[in-house]
Amino acid sequence: MMEAFVTLATNDSYAIGALVWAYALRQLQTSKHICIMVTDAVSHELRSLLAEVADSVQPVQPVLVPASATSAATAALNLLGRPDLQGESLGLAKLRVWQLSQFAKVAYMDADTLPLVNIDELLDRDELSAAPDPGWPDWFNSGVMVLRPSEATFQLLMRRAADSPGSLVDGSDQGLLNTCLADRWKSADISRRLPFGYNCLSYAFYSYLPALRHFRDSIKVVHFAGAGQKPWQLSRRPLMDQTAEFRAEFLGEWWTVYDACVLHRLASAGHSVSVK
Ligand code: UDP
Ligand code: MN
Repeated sequence: MMEAFVTLATNDSYAIGALVWAYALRQLQTSKHICIMVTDAVSHELRSLLAEVADSVQPVQPVLVPASATSAATAALNLLGRPDLQGESLGLAKLRVWQLSQFAKVAYMDADTLPLVNIDELLDRDELSAAPDPGWPDWFNSGVMVLRPSEATFQLLMRRAADSPGSLVDGSDQGLLNTCLADRWKSADISRRLPFGYNCLSYAFYSYLPALRHFRDSIKVVHFAGAGQKPWQLSRRPLMDQTAEFRAEFLGEWWTVYDACVLHRLASAGHSVSVK
């Protein structure tokens, strides 16, 4: 069975992120299948563009937060400063990746990630491989995860979300995954702990500059995590302050792929290019 890189887009804005992600993987000559999960809210135009670069575009249904957990999830997302992730609980649609039974193994990556080098070797790892979250390093960040699709795992996660609202600690997929699947990551074999270079979060661009400089050559994937950090929401000319060196470099990498592969396709598909 195939091994795949998979991402998710639930609207046209994240679909632009998914396009850049997929073209970057192509440019880096991945030998793995590229699959993009989309919900109904992604327009026909963007779907066609996604289909040009991906090996498959997989329609998925949104995952609603169970009624029993709605108020806990809303409160948690507000606390996290991510009220934008509410609504249809789009964060949870990510869990559908466990239902992609056509793949033996998947490297799931958020649509706001950008691979800088070929990372096919990620798929030599096993479930659940992920990098620590810099906000709480005993937890993994769910923006890059190696996993094995399994309906049983998907059902386990759904049951937990419904039965114990407290498992939606942060109102999103990451808290649920960490409370539910800790035994597959933290207490499993150390190879499940990915080096931070496989999921270098934008926080690190300013929080620990000497380390970033030291490890620059081992950064394989950058992740523009956080509200207002997405390249397609930012100006092309980021503020040049002391911390801007890497931020500007990595945003520049994203724009390079966008300009080479995405811009003209969006324009000829008649999509109003709203990106600054
Ligand atoms: N996502 C999406 N639509 C949304 C929000 C999120 O498709 O409205 C998907 C997308 O793949 C995104 C991932 O869910 O990368 C996780 O959300 P985000 O990256 O915004 O979270 P962060 O990494 O900033 O915590
Ligand atoms: Mn992300």
